Amino acid sequence: MSNTTDMQTALATMPKAELHLHIEGTLEPELAFEFARRNGVRLPWRTLDELRAQYRFANLQSFLDLYYALMRTLRTADDFRDLMLAYLERAARDGVMHAEIFFDPQVHVFTDHVDYDTVLDGLREGLRLGAERYGVTGALILSLVRDMDVATADRILDMAQTRSDEVIGVGLDSAEAGHPPSMFVDQFARARSLGWHAVAHAGEEGPADYIRQALDLLHAERIDHGIHILDDDELEARVIRDRIPLTCCPLSNLRLQVVGSIDDHPLPRMVHDGLVCTVNSDDPAYFGGYVAANYAALASTGMPLDMLAALAANSIEASFADDADKERMRGRLARWRDEHGL
Ligand SMILES: [Zn+2]
Repeated sequence: MSNTTDMQTALATMPKAELHLHIEGTLEPELAFEFARRNGVRLPWRTLDELRAQYRFANLQSFLDLYYALMRTLRTADDFRDLMLAYLERAARDGVMHAEIFFDPQVHVFTDHVDYDTVLDGLREGLRLGAERYGVTGALILSLVRDMDVATADRILDMAQTRSDEVIGVGLDSAEAGHPPSMFVDQFARARSLGWHAVAHAGEEGPADYIRQALDLLHAERIDHGIHILDDDELEARVIRDRIPLTCCPLSNLRLQVVGSIDDHPLPRMVHDGLVCTVNSDDPAYFGGYVAANYAALASTGMPLDMLAALAANSIEASFADDADKERMRGRLARWRDEHGL
């Protein structure tokens, strides 16, 4: 690559899947203001600049406080549809062919008093239109919010059950410390009985033992973040052996101060050890970049293009897409590799 712009273009056209993306985390300040205006929701910030000034986070909790405040602007199925469409349009520009997308219905239903069906109808309509307009296939993972009352997780699963074929999996997110996977054994068993895949955030701020719990107790097929696996050699050897994918989010880790600088990010070491890592944007409206910017951040540390392409290949293999879709993505990535002499 002759320069940074060429590298950025190459990474934005590289075919990939995105596997760790919270749809609520794609709510850009402009869109939040628009939703607030059309729904008559009062926000504590009068101007976009005042709102943007809130985006300096000391840790996971300070981010979550803003995240939940802005989520209150989402009221109608049209809001959820427009949010999804805005993400898919942006993702297509980053070379995303397929996205598996978290949503947090407990917050919408129990905190913000929006019906589950309203949320699901809007997101599904957004996925349908997004596939048509931008050629990105998408699927939904219902994420349980680990720091809300566990009883609300049960009630959401009651609501989700009648439309279980519109969701492909269950996840576990939000404030990790003090909310171990062991609290959600029953809910995950129930979700898996619906035929859903299971994934869980673990080892982001929490200890490596939370990763072990997610695997042993929740039967997670992928671990979201998982960077604290490096603290536990025995567990790391097992995850390498069983080829359990990790959905890493470098810019998120940087913004939430899980790592001090992008050069300190453990992803190169994780890849070198043999872990199946993928690159994702997590909550891109909050963390300074969509998925191609996350690849570009790794490129800026000196990671070569063939290793970045291998991470994109991992994202395709680690997805829950069917064989035909995976084959289509592999073909596109192979062509891209040829074009770039890899
Ligand atoms: Zn996340």
